[in-house]
Amino acid sequence: MYVRTRCSHCNKVDYHDIAINTLVRKTVFSDHSQMMRYLIENIDVDETISEEEMARSVLQELRGYVYDGITTYELCRILKEYFGVVAMHCCDLIQKMKIELDMYCPDHQHLYFVEA
Ligand SMILES: [Zn+2]
Repeated sequence: MYVRTRCSHCNKVDYHDIAINTLVRKTVFSDHSQMMRYLIENIDVDETISEEEMARSVLQELRGYVYDGITTYELCRILKEYFGVVAMHCCDLIQKMKIELDMYCPDHQHLYFVEA
């Protein structure tokens, strides 16, 4: 899962790929019913990348899927489902991708390639 922060030095946006490690505790009651509890043991940052790198790596993966007229809604869904981007950051990332891909969004819903 990716979370976003701002660098304390240069104020640029960074994305951190975090892994949450949990401990599972099982409680068995006298009537044999069970309850599971998940305790967060540790949170690791696997990787930190800049917003530009994030947009570029997503683009590389997406190249075949982005088509003329794709909706921002669909792109957002792909980002969430396949890249683990937290929903609240999707819009910002799409803005970056739009620039990198040379796309425009006249109605704020559909993305089109700028014709050369
Ligand atoms: Zn920095």
